[in-house]
Amino acid sequence: MMRNLLIISNWKLNGSKYLIKNFVSNISLIVKNYNFSIVIAPPLLYLDYMQYIIQLYNCDNYISLSAQNIDTNNYGSFTGEISAKMLKDIGIKYAIIGHADRKVFHNENSSTILKKFAILKSEGITPILCIGETKTEYQANQTIVICIKQIDNIINNFGILAFKNTIIAYEPIWAINKKTVINPIYIQDVHKAIRNYLMKYNDEISKNINIQYGGSVSNENILNLLKQPDIDGVLVGRASLNISNFIKMLNVVNNFYSC
Ligand code: PEP
Repeated sequence: MMRNLLIISNWKLNGSKYLIKNFVSNISLIVKNYNFSIVIAPPLLYLDYMQYIIQLYNCDNYISLSAQNIDTNNYGSFTGEISAKMLKDIGIKYAIIGHADRKVFHNENSSTILKKFAILKSEGITPILCIGETKTEYQANQTIVICIKQIDNIINNFGILAFKNTIIAYEPIWAINKKTVINPIYIQDVHKAIRNYLMKYNDEISKNINIQYGGSVSNENILNLLKQPDIDGVLVGRASLNISNFIKMLNVVNNFYSC
């Protein structure tokens, strides 16, 4: 099995140059001892600056950066947008697509997600593809059906091999930005179902793909989530915004995996 434990932090619309400096200087003292990878998604405006600070503290082998979003186009009259080509130009390795915030507040739909997925692939940037169901779908026991539909959206258009160098983030919309109590066994079942579905198409992809969980991850629930065999890491929003809290979280994970 080739899966590496991955902790992704999504800063959403938060952050400042001060926070970035503070975060990187603090984390640079410990990150080199970690046996897992960290990806940070600050607001797009700060990617280049954060990259610079990470290099300044010699942490570029330990912390990677992700965009929170990209446009569906690479050039042109799309005022206010950022392209995958620009991300590649400044050396960004990952981009989140299909995040619930984009679906809920910016009408991102399956066809937008397909375009973004394709453009990231064409630039060699790893998509962090968020999938997940609404509360109504969850209550109607439609979780797996909805996740598979969102995965099929990719497979039917690009084939199963498009999942090579792709990260799936299972983020139930009802659990994001809330104080939801998470049942790790339930999340494990969803991840397992996603992996089993991919296995029908390609064994290697199914075994090697990172399936992250995101939604109300906290210091209290992170270990129980990561103990599940098909949860390969987490995507943390609010709990990663407080640096000392996030570092505590990373240390808890590190201590557990060093034992
Ligand atoms: C997110 O924004 O992707 C997320 C998982 O948020 P939170 O951890 O705050 O629920």
